[in-house]
Amino acid sequence: MSDTENLCISCGMCCNGTLFERVQLFDHDDTAPLLAHDANLFRKSGDESGKLYMQLPCPAHCDGACKIYEFRPSTCRGYKCELLGQVEKGGVSFEKARAIVLEALAARTATLKAAESHPALAGQSVKNILKFATDLLAEDVKPEDRGLYGELIIEVMALDLQLELHFRAPQSK
Ligand code: SF4
Ligand code: SF4
Repeated sequence: MSDTENLCISCGMCCNGTLFERVQLFDHDDTAPLLAHDANLFRKSGDESGKLYMQLPCPAHCDGACKIYEFRPSTCRGYKCELLGQVEKGGVSFEKARAIVLEALAARTATLKAAESHPALAGQSVKNILKFATDLLAEDVKPEDRGLYGELIIEVMALDLQLELHFRAPQSK
């Protein structure tokens, strides 16, 4: 197995609802393998373009691997995060990238743990938790309301920094 495959197996953040909340599907994508894994496919209400999406976390992502790798959607085939791109170009070593992934995963775990004490966030993806906490930083949010989520906001900011520094790239999944 290549270094890049190993890196992705140790990570999974573009599949598990951390970096993205959905994947766009196209006519040439085979949806049967996704549906066989009970994937939630949907169109946005009010979107006249009729684009089809799959909700993340992806149910085909299991133990760090894509269970439908040969049949994964074209968006998944074409995607690589900034870190993976850097490893492929030789700008970042595999060992360094692996350390970055582990640090980001630790921040993700801390975010989920901080969210546990807020029932309203139960079952939400990490991406949605990130959005929820980031919205609390808006000027019109009362400080006392923001204070209820202090620990969560700190963990979210740490995770968001990791994602911004190493993973997000000017492309979307
Ligand atoms: S976020 Fe990057 S390193 Fe992680 S699984 Fe996706 S492409 Fe691979
Ligand atoms: S189909 Fe495979 S590559 Fe695409 S989001 Fe699901 S697990 Fe990840």
